[in-house]
Amino acid sequence: MFKKVLVANRGEIACRIIRTLKEMGITAVAVYSDADADAEHVAMADEAYNIGPAPAKESYLNTDKILAVMNDHGVEAVHPGYGFLSENVEFRKACLELGVEFIGPEERHILEFGLKHMARDLAESAGVPLVPGTPLLNSLEEALEAAEHIGYPVMLKSTAGGGGIGMRICNESDELEAHYDTIKRLGKNYFKDEGVFLEKYIRTSRHIEVQVFGNGKGEVVVLGERDCSVQRRNQKVIEETPAPNISEETRAALHAAAKALTEKVAYRSAGTVEFIYDTETEQFYFLEVNTRLQVEHGITEEVFGVDLVRWMVELAAGEDPTPGKFDLKPSGCAMEFRVYAEDPGKEYQPSSGIITKAEFPEGIRVDKWVETGAEVSAYYDPLLAKVIVTGSTRDETVARSVDVLSNTAICGFETNIQLMRQVLEDETFRRGEVFTGLLNTFDYRADTIEVVVPGTQTTVQDVPGRIGYWGIGVPPSGPMDMLSFRIANRLVGNAENAAALEMTMSGGVIGLTVMPLWRWPAVT
Ligand code: ADP
Ligand code: ADP
Ligand code: MG
Repeated sequence: MFKKVLVANRGEIACRIIRTLKEMGITAVAVYSDADADAEHVAMADEAYNIGPAPAKESYLNTDKILAVMNDHGVEAVHPGYGFLSENVEFRKACLELGVEFIGPEERHILEFGLKHMARDLAESAGVPLVPGTPLLNSLEEALEAAEHIGYPVMLKSTAGGGGIGMRICNESDELEAHYDTIKRLGKNYFKDEGVFLEKYIRTSRHIEVQVFGNGKGEVVVLGERDCSVQRRNQKVIEETPAPNISEETRAALHAAAKALTEKVAYRSAGTVEFIYDTETEQFYFLEVNTRLQVEHGITEEVFGVDLVRWMVELAAGEDPTPGKFDLKPSGCAMEFRVYAEDPGKEYQPSSGIITKAEFPEGIRVDKWVETGAEVSAYYDPLLAKVIVTGSTRDETVARSVDVLSNTAICGFETNIQLMRQVLEDETFRRGEVFTGLLNTFDYRADTIEVVVPGTQTTVQDVPGRIGYWGIGVPPSGPMDMLSFRIANRLVGNAENAAALEMTMSGGVIGLTVMPLWRWPAVT
């Protein structure tokens, strides 16, 4: 087994990997950017090295710096987590040249599945059903012709895309014309590949994916499926396993399809085969393969009682963890709630700042990197924590989740915790009738107000305020105008001593997320 492993990542996934490395008695080495000097993964690691300025390009994607750290400090293997360098074959190659093991799949797996149009070819040859679509397109004319053939709506996709970026629904030919060059350019800029193709857009769809782990010798362990339909901007927000409301036949067919595809390429390490499931026809179709540890791997670990990071490390060290694991059965249900630093009331605009309070319930698994006092910068992904709730049935898990999210709080800026808490009350969600469009039409009611302009001397006061401490040198506080303050409270049906905002004549501007901006009348 390795003695020293470097984690080439940050945030919750770096913390999660370091946890397993420490459990395995392996020295965990962290790398960090200037923005992360005080981050949790740095504190948790046995050794930590600065690899440059905050922008990811200059630090977490700076392969020279990371390779130098590995070379200088006797690192034997590297776990890339997800994102950043996890699917970068150049980095993988450079590690091996340095004598550092790459904890993940083979280069050919990353390459073959890395481009969606190639993955589709592979899936087809393994007998896995595909969404009707095209190979790579050579021109807009070709795209328009193919779209007529497939039938609108279609999804225009960048072959190298990921994280919900690089795809556009086109309802008619005008839209395809309008988006064709944009998506090509986006693919080129973000993913260094301008290849695009079309897929039929499945309107009433669910996202269901299968977790696999291959031993690299042609055998693959299937670890159930996850429903990840609750999404915003084609990116997952709530995931659960097992997938609710599908027949046992469909479940078995999904597993068999994922197994056939990954065994065909003798897949090695952890991977995920993603499918889109049409709720009207009850057919499923191949979407893509993610050749890495997936963000939502934790719920699978909970119901199967396994540690996928440990398996990945063991396999990379030459110890096959798969014998005896081919018939593992899941027990109960697990749900994951992704806590994002973003404002669901403002089209999920990212938020950042200092966390003035971070509160998570005891006794459940939370993969996180934030504590009270942590600084969330705008440089990285807005994922702060993954709250994982388990139960013996789906109903029990939902009921527990209500409790758990009610007792989860991040203060200092907006997050999506309230949104997820409200989704749990949604009847469609409760019935397990999830679909990818659920959040698009969801009626989110924010229980926050936004201070757009604070004005001069806008304060929170109550009646009679703070009195009786002059003796120890603390001056009294309270409303400037006791009478207006109490009348204002009475007008809105509050107790007259309820806390209220007191503003002077040049009072501030307050925005309610659910309403247009309005001007708060000055009270005094
Ligand atoms: P990414 O690489 O960004 O994860 P995917 O191909 O996995 O891209 O798609 C992400 C999400 O976009 C899916 O979970 C689904 O919600 C939606 N999507 C993708 N393809 C289709 C399609 N053909 N029809 C309907 N929705 C789709
Ligand atoms: P202090 O600093 O006097 O102990 P607080 O901490 O309660 O007072 O409030 C901070 C600041 O808020 C005060 O210095 C004062 O400028 C302002 N403030 C306090 N009470 C009021 C009030 N009733 N109306 C307007 N401004 C107030
Ligand atoms: Mg995907």
